[in-house]
Amino acid sequence: MDVDGRYELVVFDMDGVLLDVRSSWVLVHDHFGVNNDVSLQAYLSGDIDDEEFMRRDIALWKERQPSISKRHIREIVKDAPMMKGCKESLRTLKKNGYKTAVVSGGLKPLVEQIGMGYFDVIMVNDLEDDGELTGEGILNVPLNDKGTAFHKVLEMLDIPPESTVAVGNSFIDVPMLKKASLGIAFNPEDQEVCDSADVVIREKDLCRILEYL
Ligand SMILES: [Mg+2]
Repeated sequence: MDVDGRYELVVFDMDGVLLDVRSSWVLVHDHFGVNNDVSLQAYLSGDIDDEEFMRRDIALWKERQPSISKRHIREIVKDAPMMKGCKESLRTLKKNGYKTAVVSGGLKPLVEQIGMGYFDVIMVNDLEDDGELTGEGILNVPLNDKGTAFHKVLEMLDIPPESTVAVGNSFIDVPMLKKASLGIAFNPEDQEVCDSADVVIREKDLCRILEYL
């Protein structure tokens, strides 16, 4: 419990919040010189689901490198830039007794890059690997339904929404920001996330969130 007892948990989006990257999937696409514009459009228009979206993304990589493992993916993302203040703010939250979680449609190797030990709950998507990538994703966070993943995290920690802060940077995070007692739009990339937030922080320094807790 923090000093004034208002909040117990901070739930973070990853891409664009903990990491100074647009998308962890796009980091890998860029490495292979591919893009997923076609399947992104198909997903956004509802023609394919999250599993098929991940399958098509992974297929793009395997076209370039048929035998690819999660170890390769870790190597590709190992220099992904942290957001300024990322580790400092996570350490401060821990020191002050907060629980922390990450809820992201991004890739688990990126959480490993930040440090799994910073989080009480990690709910992100992953890649199935049996020695090499099978071509299937592991879906924990549907992009169009972050609210359900957010609720699962609260249930796991037995913490109510009134004691929770959510931090996100895009329209995908709106369900989390609306459900949390304090919604913070950080480094926002669209108007929707700003409209649903209690606080908007446009400076790329994650320590700025500490002022509002
Ligand atoms: Mg994001």
